[in-house]
This record gives sequence, C-alpha cells and structure tokens, in this order.
Amino acid sequence: MSISISGLKKDYVRSRRRVVPALEGIDLEVKEGELLVVVGPSGSGKTTLLRCIAGLETPDEGTIEVGGRDVTKLLPGDRDVAMVFQEYALYPHLTVEANVSFGLKARKVSSTEVRRRVDQAAESLGLQDLLDRRPPELSGGERQRVALARAIVREPSAYLLDEPLSNLDAELRTKTRAEIRLLQKRLGTTTVYVTHDQVEAMTMGDRVVVLRGGQVQQIDTPAMLYDHPANAFVASFFGTPPMNLYPAQSGGGPSGASTVGVRPEHLRLVPPATGRLHGRTETVETIGSDAIVHLKVDGRALLVKTSRADAPIDGQEVGVDFSDTDMYGFDENDNSLTP
Ligand code: ADP
Ligand code: MG
Repeated sequence: MSISISGLKKDYVRSRRRVVPALEGIDLEVKEGELLVVVGPSGSGKTTLLRCIAGLETPDEGTIEVGGRDVTKLLPGDRDVAMVFQEYALYPHLTVEANVSFGLKARKVSSTEVRRRVDQAAESLGLQDLLDRRPPELSGGERQRVALARAIVREPSAYLLDEPLSNLDAELRTKTRAEIRLLQKRLGTTTVYVTHDQVEAMTMGDRVVVLRGGQVQQIDTPAMLYDHPANAFVASFFGTPPMNLYPAQSGGGPSGASTVGVRPEHLRLVPPATGRLHGRTETVETIGSDAIVHLKVDGRALLVKTSRADAPIDGQEVGVDFSDTDMYGFDENDNSLTP
C-alpha cells in the first residue's frame, strides 16, 4: 500500500527552554510496492520519521495515510505496519521460533497459520536450522535476519526498517543489502528503509529521500540524485570521494554561481601547464585499480579519481582538465543552478 505524508512536524521538548526540532514539515509519498530509502546524517530526523509512521511518536502537525486511510491518530497496533529496529529488540530468553511468532500469537492468529508463516519466513531468510536457538547463540547477521523474519510474518501493508544493517561487518552488509532488496521485490510490500550510508541508499532504493536537519532536500531516483543534485549538500553527500566544491571566482562556472563543483571522476590529469587548472600532487591513495589523487591547486585541495596506471607521484606538477558539461553551479543559498 502507498504511504502519504504531508506537513509532518515534530519537536522534542527537552525542558521548558529547550526545544529540539526533529522534523520541520515533511511531505512525501511512498508508492505502492516501492522500496523508498531515507538517507541523511546522524540527527537528521530519520528515526523520528519512521517512529511517527509506526505510531511510536505523535507528530505535532501533519497527517500520515497508509493505503488512503488516515492513521495519524491510530495506535501502533492498528496501523498494519511493521518496524524493524536498529538494535533488533529480540527477546534473549526466547527461541528464534518464539521470537518470530511472538507478535502473531499476541494477535490471536491460528496456530496452523502461525506455522505456515514462520516456515515461509524461515525459508526466505535461511533460518530453518536456527529456529530452536536463542539470540545470544546467534551471530549479528543471524539476529538481524530474525528481526526481519519477525516483521515479515506479520504480512503488514508496509515495512519500516531503521538502519537494519548497521551492526554488521562490511562484507556481510554488502551481501545482506542485496538480499533485502531481492526479498522486498519478491514480497512486493511497500518499504521505507532508513540508513545514513550513501552507498546503501544508492544501491537499494527505487527512490531516495535525502534528509538534513529535519527537512527533505530532494526525493529522486539514485541516478537523478547523482546527476542532478538539487543543492550542494546533496551533491557532496553522494559519491566517493565527494564532489569538489569551490568558490566560483576561482574557476568560472555557470553565471550567477557562487560555488562550482566537479566530481573527482570527471577531472582528467593532463601534462603540466596544459588544461584548465594547474597544481601539485600532495599524495596518492590507491584502491585496487583506482587512484585518488590529492592535489593542491591555488592553495585549495582538489581530488581527482583516476586509474592507478595514470596516477602521478607525490610532488609531481600536473594539469587538470574537465568539460563544461561536468561542471555544477550553486547559488549563494547552495541551490543548484544546473538543471
Ligand atoms: P536520526 O535517526 O536521523 O539520527 P533522530 O530522528 O534520532 O535522527 O533525531 C532527530 C533529532 O531529534 C536529533 O537532534 C536528536 O538529538 C533529537 N531527538 C531524537 N530523539 C529524541 C528524544 N527522545 N528526546 C529529545 N530529542 C530527541
Ligand atoms: Mg536513527
């Protein structure tokens, strides 16, 4: 089912004087069957947004609809959405099977139906051999799959996942993010997936919402966010290493731009004294077949991504070239000037 959020505001009141604005008017639409990723730095309001959708926080203003039904004032249990928490929140003394079926028994689902759903979820997530273990006897990745299974068996209208991979090591994270995406496509259930990781957002999302300070910066497909960032924050949030940004007077750029940007992978190293910029190599990082070249140009740091074979040596003078079409311009409020 689709989820429709409009004008959502939420402040946390810490004391009479101290109010923390967490969400400052969020409008967004999660389409039926979509995997929508919400990404942003720590403290940008991602968890608060999910908790409002789940009914665990009461918004100060705004409405939330699930499948066209206004759920803004409903209790969490009446919303038909299942949330997976960052810390999993499993019962340590219960077996995997009891953890997974816990919510169903509480909802008075018949025991044959519980059996069917648990078996199916266990099969989807490869938990068949772990059903009689307890959480302390599981690895981080296994616990994470149990937490997902517990959400899946509820067969809700939507899943809300809050940084479910953040406790896993890098290798398992890469593997699991592909698995979650496949599973979501197979189940076809509308999903809001929260992460602070730009790579996770780019690789998993049908569309991605970028949050900053409780405000939506842009909602778009991963390719659009990368090619057409709405502002300098989004431009520098995606991409490894991030986009080079510098004041416009030092490098031309679109008219009216106060900041210009070029991605490291769009810069080309050329012989010294040729090209549009001239600088000196400070250091070179090699990552497999790629190299990140750290240059100093007119006293400013500039990163160039190139192949290891083309990388200069430390201290070497180089020229840098790029085409106008790879240049981004941002106005004095950091909004994009390049369509
Ligand atoms: P994220 O999940 O993106 O890291 P959160 O939604 O947890 O961000 O937090 C958004 C803002 O609200 C932050 O400034 C955070 O410190 C604040 N905040 C979150 N929860 C509470 C709370 N229970 N009480 C007071 N402030 C909170
Ligand atoms: Mg959070």
